[in-house]
Amino acid sequence: MIKKSMLIKGQWVEAESRDILEVVNPAYGEVFAEVPKAHKEDLDKAIDAAEAALPQWSALSPFKRGALLRKASDIVLQRTGEIARLMTLEQGKPLKEAAGEVEKGAKILRYYAEEGERIYGRIIANEEEDIESRVIYQPVGVAGAISPWNYPIELLAWKIGGALAAGCTIIAKLPSETPLSPLAFTACLHDAGVPAGVINAITGSGSELGPVLFNSRKVKKIAFTGSTDTGRQVLAGCVDTFKKVSLELGGSLPMIVCKDCNLDAAVAGAVRRSFRNMGQICIAINRIYVDNKIYEPFMAKFVEETKKLSIGDGAKEDCDLGPMCTNGGIITSQRHIDDAVSKGAKIACGGKKPQGHKFEKGYYFEPTILRDANHEMLVMSEETFGPVVGVMPFNTIEEAIELANDCIYGLAAIIFTESLSLADNLAKKIKAGNVAINNVDAGVIYAPYGGWKDSGFGHEHGPEGLYEYLLIKHIRVRYL
Ligand code: NAD
Repeated sequence: MIKKSMLIKGQWVEAESRDILEVVNPAYGEVFAEVPKAHKEDLDKAIDAAEAALPQWSALSPFKRGALLRKASDIVLQRTGEIARLMTLEQGKPLKEAAGEVEKGAKILRYYAEEGERIYGRIIANEEEDIESRVIYQPVGVAGAISPWNYPIELLAWKIGGALAAGCTIIAKLPSETPLSPLAFTACLHDAGVPAGVINAITGSGSELGPVLFNSRKVKKIAFTGSTDTGRQVLAGCVDTFKKVSLELGGSLPMIVCKDCNLDAAVAGAVRRSFRNMGQICIAINRIYVDNKIYEPFMAKFVEETKKLSIGDGAKEDCDLGPMCTNGGIITSQRHIDDAVSKGAKIACGGKKPQGHKFEKGYYFEPTILRDANHEMLVMSEETFGPVVGVMPFNTIEEAIELANDCIYGLAAIIFTESLSLADNLAKKIKAGNVAINNVDAGVIYAPYGGWKDSGFGHEHGPEGLYEYLLIKHIRVRYL
């Protein structure tokens, strides 16, 4: 049994109550680790520690903060193997995917170390010759971060990187399903010499601890990534204390495949972005709209390539897909498949748990393509957050745009076409915060990433991800 502690005020501690949370390996459905289950008294200590550490941390030059972030980034890289292994055991993604995510976590810390050194103010001329307006940016204060289990390190690193580089201190409420790899990641910052209290990592129930963070007047900012339903509660919880809030919420990503596209590239993208991490990605493809003229060739190739994906225990085998992280994911996937089939969709591949002894106990599911889908079906409107994608033909570009926008979410969209003007027209008319054209990676650390509509507001990635942790101050100076 693996046992890990929480990080509060630079110490690795248990919950005062000694309560614990069990961690399940989704490849077998078995408990293999435990972490403390924090309550209000533990979180209050972390909030006090973050508040006490703030004056010194925010007064450090961005270069000194950057040096510590760079050192932490190096330590993360040195420990990639061991951290990735923990992630695979708790989350299910294959080891190579987990290692890629850990390396990305290191890259994010380095990116924000450098971006923090580029927080520039402005000087604005006034009408009077002896007066000028200066605009400066200052840290918002203690930040609270809440993140989910699908990318346990990456989503946390966005928040830690932005907050620490901006001069904020942070309390990270880690995902209950996958606390181990984020704890190992925060240990790298601690071991790099980030002072006690600057980063605190708490494990415990979100619905219990969230309101403690929201109601605290010492916490000035909440960065939340998770479902739209929980995001609504987070926003409501922060109203009384007027916190700065950023919400990275759910999505239902449309992919539009135009008749002039490079079909091989479109299919490769569709396979990768529909099923990677078992579809448990906020920007996983949920719905594909294909020009009627290439619908059958696209479907044939999409099914053929999807069938090549290998499934297994990613801690032991070199496979493309592992189990889902929770059994709840299988239930939603099955519900969306049953609903679509009852309304006329056909299962082109997948649709069930894979057969065989090795899949019996784990949360395994086959990547599933539903063809001839329509907008009456849940798969085309609700977020499945599983390895299920609906495919539907369209006749005109206007119809494709209307279908893509017919959704409460607006996180991201993907377009495949060889026509530059068509791509530009589509990208501008799609109501989403991120659009990928002829590629399927709508989010990269160098550029702002955020949702429209019910996918939330605020940004992570890019300089915008840093400015979420800064307040603007206007200083008007008269030179006497
Ligand atoms: P979730 O909303 O259930 O949980 C997310 C986090 O919030 C967890 O740490 C959880 O403990 C905590 N939490 C739960 N209830 C809370 C409450 N009342 N107050 C405060 N915190 C609470 O989401 P999930 O199922 O863990 O994650 C999947 C969802 O996250 C999907 O909808 C997915 O699209 C979304 N997501 C969005 C992005 C993005 O960048 N937009 C990225 C990844 C995941």
